[in-house]
Amino acid sequence: MQGHSSNESLLARMEGELASCSICADRMHSRKNPPRILACLHTFCSACLVTLAAKGKGGVACPSCRATTRMSDINALAQNYSLVRMLEILEIQVREIYRT
Ligand SMILES: [Zn+2]
Ligand SMILES: [Zn+2]
Repeated sequence: MQGHSSNESLLARMEGELASCSICADRMHSRKNPPRILACLHTFCSACLVTLAAKGKGGVACPSCRATTRMSDINALAQNYSLVRMLEILEIQVREIYRT
């Protein structure tokens, strides 16, 4: 039987390394702040992309590689569904561990 301690450290690593946005360092959320993919395949949280889109003119300049993704609306960018699915699992796990 697996103890909670190993699950929690795995969750902490996944949250820190995969589920966090590299711009704002906040944890992304599967529904409230889903990760979206730019044309260069870099992924950032929706909130940061909205800010970047507001600064750019009809497109977003990727903070990682500087490639420009042309788009008029943030919703035109595809969500990173494999990451969204992982966030969903993470959110369920966190709820189970911290349930009182
Ligand atoms: Zn962000
Ligand atoms: Zn990029």
